[in-house]
Amino acid sequence: MPHSQFTDITQGITEIYHDLLDNRDGQVAQYIPSLASADPDKFAISICTADGQVFNIGDTDVPFSIQSTSKVFNLLMAYDELGPEEVHKRVGTEQSGGPFNDPVLSLDEDGVPRNPMINAGAIGTLAMVRSGERESARARALLEIWDAMTGRQRAGSDLETFLAEMETAEGNRKLTGRIAAKDKLMGGSGEVAVEDALRFYTTVCALELDSKRLAAAGATLANGGVAPFTEERVFSADATARALSLMAHCGMYDGSGKFAIEVGLPGKSGVSGNIMLVIPQLRMAMAVHSPRLDPAGNSVRGLEVCRRLVNQFNLHPYRQL
Ligand code: GLU
Repeated sequence: MPHSQFTDITQGITEIYHDLLDNRDGQVAQYIPSLASADPDKFAISICTADGQVFNIGDTDVPFSIQSTSKVFNLLMAYDELGPEEVHKRVGTEQSGGPFNDPVLSLDEDGVPRNPMINAGAIGTLAMVRSGERESARARALLEIWDAMTGRQRAGSDLETFLAEMETAEGNRKLTGRIAAKDKLMGGSGEVAVEDALRFYTTVCALELDSKRLAAAGATLANGGVAPFTEERVFSADATARALSLMAHCGMYDGSGKFAIEVGLPGKSGVSGNIMLVIPQLRMAMAVHSPRLDPAGNSVRGLEVCRRLVNQFNLHPYRQL
């Protein structure tokens, strides 16, 4: 990206950041203490371009568990390991019409999760990744992907969040059991045990990053699967395009349709208050962290940053016609 364009964007983001500092709408996720006790006023915006230019404002060093944003990367790993055809035998491509953990709407009548961006779909998708290998080897493979995307700034792990999620995982356990009952909890090497799938999924939700590293991961997607700092190919271009399409379609929980209308770009949010937005036409990504959520589970300030950025720089693809 030309330096002058990058500077314009960073100036716009600086204004948006200051404008939104006083916005205290929404509520921090309450379902586990480690999320409920997050400082609601934290606010970070990071951007990263495909050619490695970065800009950070606010609390961009503050770590958070990435939660549902990890779902995109689980999907990418599954695509590149098994191919999209195999993956979509076990996870769908349509919106569920319900919240991310809906006990009924999450699966179709054949036990196939509706899409990889809801809990059931992400559990099923991650179960496909290096199935049959030891958990530690699977974790290593996954961390290597994150290392490559972030320029080797290793992701941490939020132990308390992991344990609390496991203690309150009954809904996810039931969903996983229903997938398994229909023989759809399958990796390349065969069936995966419910508890194994659940634990690994929960481990990955508790990966800890900051907005800087999340923006670099997003920039990998904006770059067709090639990491911004190291120029390593992390994901195939085809897998990346597919994952971006699914993000654009169902990445923002039950607010995905509204987001598509207002922002029109692929985004994914996590319940810790993070949003990763990919801006393909600028080959750039943005990560926002601000823990207060709207009723759908999306960061209130995060959504507003996306809307304002898109309006200010005319980035909605269909508003340029
Ligand atoms: N770890 C959460 C769960 O499985 C996902 C939260 C999210 O949507 O970000 O319930």
